[in-house]
Amino acid sequence: MQKFYITTPIYYVNDKPHLGHAYTTIAGDVLARYYRQKLGPDNVWFLTGTDEHGVKVSQTAEKFDKTPQAYADEISAKFQFAWDQLNISYNDFIRTTQTRHEENVEFFVSKLKEAVGPDGQSVIYKGTYEGLYCYGCEAYKTENDLVDGKCLDHPNIEPAYLKEENWFFRLSAFADHIKEVIERGDFIVAPESRKNEVLRFITDGLDDIAISRANVDWGIKVPFDQDQTIYVWVDALLNYISALGYKDNDEKFKTFWPANVQLLAKDILKFHAIIWPAILMAGGLDLPRVCFAHGFFTVDGQKMSKTIGNVIDPNNLVAEFGSDGARYLILSQYPFGNDGDIKADDFVIKYNADLANGIGNLVSRVLGMIEKYFGGLVPQGKYGAEYNLKDFWGNLDQGYADLKLYENLKSMIDLVSWCDNYIDQTKPWELAKNDQDKLEKVLYNLIEIVRHLSIAVYPYLPETAEAIWDKLNISQVMVETKFEDLQKIGLMEPGLKVTKGDALFARK
Ligand SMILES: [Zn+2]
Repeated sequence: MQKFYITTPIYYVNDKPHLGHAYTTIAGDVLARYYRQKLGPDNVWFLTGTDEHGVKVSQTAEKFDKTPQAYADEISAKFQFAWDQLNISYNDFIRTTQTRHEENVEFFVSKLKEAVGPDGQSVIYKGTYEGLYCYGCEAYKTENDLVDGKCLDHPNIEPAYLKEENWFFRLSAFADHIKEVIERGDFIVAPESRKNEVLRFITDGLDDIAISRANVDWGIKVPFDQDQTIYVWVDALLNYISALGYKDNDEKFKTFWPANVQLLAKDILKFHAIIWPAILMAGGLDLPRVCFAHGFFTVDGQKMSKTIGNVIDPNNLVAEFGSDGARYLILSQYPFGNDGDIKADDFVIKYNADLANGIGNLVSRVLGMIEKYFGGLVPQGKYGAEYNLKDFWGNLDQGYADLKLYENLKSMIDLVSWCDNYIDQTKPWELAKNDQDKLEKVLYNLIEIVRHLSIAVYPYLPETAEAIWDKLNISQVMVETKFEDLQKIGLMEPGLKVTKGDALFARK
């Protein structure tokens, strides 16, 4: 049996959830829901969570006069709340302050201590770091990383000069191996532009990296050196295996590792596409299949910022448009993987056009006509419309494999338009007067397409899909029937009672 393990990054608890976090997480949810349809719910594992250690968290907690744990608890709960609002169907929500995670990190780092790299040397060693450090990034910086002596992402934080003893990971020894697995396609870094970026970076040469810090209290101690704390990034990356019970070689770990898709935003690409595979190789573990980094977005042409006041709170979006509406408005903006612009000013227009007047109106129209002309009973018929449903499903499946989430969604909206045109051309209200036979055929075609559409939109619009299944009187069929059978053509049973009921989306 095939399996599908998908992860989002774990989100840093120095700030509450914003639209960027929501974007990655909704995308993960769409993929998880699709593969649950395709492979069966037991064969999919969807992981998200929060990254709770590090100097920045303890400093922010202090500002609010809280312990780091109390502060992390509060923010982590906000993430879980936002994901519940957005109907995110994660299987597990990991927090790096959980004992299960801490034990796995200690176990893995101890294992690294004994490991020997491709060059025959120990993969970790103690060394001295001397140089600049950005507390905003919680990362050491080279002169090349800085512009006018300032970090690009944190121009208001003066980089600090640090000199301290740290444990180092011999990343340099893994450069050739990582390059090879990426070039061979064993470890897919996508989209293509990100892959090229990573390969260029490796070719320029990789430095060894510190994996521990001195004088940091809020974190996991290096098990063989209690004066050192495991660097927050190493701690965070290991969540992907600790959540599966790596240390105890749990059944879950054996079933789901390696990850099929790891989603992230491009600012953390190097960690996931270079450091992470190197660490896994050093620990003797298989590499994830796909590391997919999506781009950044602006909102109405401007970078999202508190100063401009264009920060979109995902909870507000749900309050205004419902969870399906919010999911739709976020994923329908531009192709997944690219940089793009979220047109928040047009949210109402888009919601009305594609959801209320689009899917919602189509479903109402078709069911309304079946109620009016056939007393709510599905007419006799055999699917005979020109729209090729088999190709529709084939394209969607390939689209999911390529993470073309925007294109897939668009093909569903295109199908709605196709149906609207079909109705305009066949004019069922005229057929009702003079061609009962054709009327049956047309409405059978439409109700069958609506059935397919409802199954297709489920990963994006789960509440809407379930509401349509109720209207079509097929909720039970959906539970009992395998996905490949549901895609067959002509499953809508003549004589079945269907109901128009309430509108799926209220117009704004
Ligand atoms: Zn920085």
